[in-house]
Amino acid sequence: MDIKKNDILKLKITSMTAQGNGAGKTDEGIVIFVPMSAVGDELEVRILKVKKTYAYGKIEKILKPFESRIETDCPNFGKCGGCVYRHIDYNSELEIKHQRVSDALERIGGFKNIKINPVVENERVLRYRNKAQLPAQNTENGVELGFYANRSHRIIPCDDCLLQPKVFKKVMDITRDFMQKTSQSAYDERTGRGTLRHLYIRYAEMTDELMVCYVVNSIGLKQEDVLIKKLKENLPNLKSVIINSNKENTNVILGSKNRTAYGKDYIEDILCGKRFKLSPLSFYQVNRAQAEKLYEIAKNYADLKGNEILLDLYCGIGTIGLSMADCCKKLIGVEIIEDAVKDAVRNAEANETENAEFICGNASYALNRLKKDGVKPDVVIVDPPRKGLDEELIKTISQMSPDRVVYVSCGPETLARDLRIFSDNNYSVKEITPVDLFSRTSHVENVCLLIKNKRS
Ligand code: SAH
Repeated sequence: MDIKKNDILKLKITSMTAQGNGAGKTDEGIVIFVPMSAVGDELEVRILKVKKTYAYGKIEKILKPFESRIETDCPNFGKCGGCVYRHIDYNSELEIKHQRVSDALERIGGFKNIKINPVVENERVLRYRNKAQLPAQNTENGVELGFYANRSHRIIPCDDCLLQPKVFKKVMDITRDFMQKTSQSAYDERTGRGTLRHLYIRYAEMTDELMVCYVVNSIGLKQEDVLIKKLKENLPNLKSVIINSNKENTNVILGSKNRTAYGKDYIEDILCGKRFKLSPLSFYQVNRAQAEKLYEIAKNYADLKGNEILLDLYCGIGTIGLSMADCCKKLIGVEIIEDAVKDAVRNAEANETENAEFICGNASYALNRLKKDGVKPDVVIVDPPRKGLDEELIKTISQMSPDRVVYVSCGPETLARDLRIFSDNNYSVKEITPVDLFSRTSHVENVCLLIKNKRS
């Protein structure tokens, strides 16, 4: 390849990657990936990194911007590893996300004519998140909190992230100030010394309840009472302060031990008209308002008439299944995290749902057990992490022969791969609806309806 680092060249952006980078080809056919660009941009690009068949560059100068380029509104855009579309108007972002889904289905799944509905819009593109996990680091100015730069453990200090509620900034300020005044330091992953690893904040917007969780490399912080007093004085909606101990040398953020330093061991939110208890270790959708729309679509796809057995695999605290439990005969949820299962059980009780059962375990094992026990679900919902489903699990679902499968996915590429396996195992993809849960980032959620093929 005859380009090298620091070369400056002209480039027209002609496509977007799944990660949200623009891409264009040089005259020699070498693909250059450029963050913060978009299709139609004509750029002067500085080459940063050269690989065998492609290279990375950054915008040196915009010669001609694509038509829906907008001024970015965040000083950390392009640095913090969060947003990738702050330079694009929202409609164009939705089009890019739709394209990503249809590209994945075609290229990875080999599907050509699947109905992909328009991406369901987020009404609140700013401050829609209800959760932040902010790493702490020691700097010349004391303990800093922020976000890791893309693919690194270098912290980008962040005063006020535009995706987070304003109250999170207050918690960050109080925490920094407390660490400074009590001369405590952040955990240093190279030496294993220091205390504070992460500040983890959760906000339940329908009840206005706030949880603050400190992830520490010990059993607690010095002078916790001082910290709690300060938090209480400044945050009238504070309902829970948790100390989470994580003494492992690991990238996993949360340890398994929680101690409640103030208030309750959970906060509660309302979703689809039901109350949900959220413990620190349990998964909860970060965009509540959009999650409601997602679940509504999933419910339409499930098309329950009242007599069905509904299986909710990867159920977390039970949100999807419990939002539909009134419409079926029996709900069985499966989830691997014990605290989440406990929350799910408590949530069923709190919502007076008597037809729900939750199993703690690996979805694949639990499903095999259910099959051996002769359970015959009519509808199966799956909502796995980004890596998607195992082929074996898909085959087991197919053998259990539900009429419908509703697949909720946060990874279009693994969804496409798995839908192909479902297609090879007697299920047809009916339609897909992408939902924008993570505006301004590259992520896009999808909900897909699969129907069992009729025997010919
Ligand atoms: N459906 C829930 C949670 C979705 S997130 C909601 O919408 O809120 C995915 C969930 O799968 C997480 O709660 C995670 O703990 C769980 N999980 C991850 N791997 C699992 C596995 N192998 N078996 C069962 N659950 C798993």
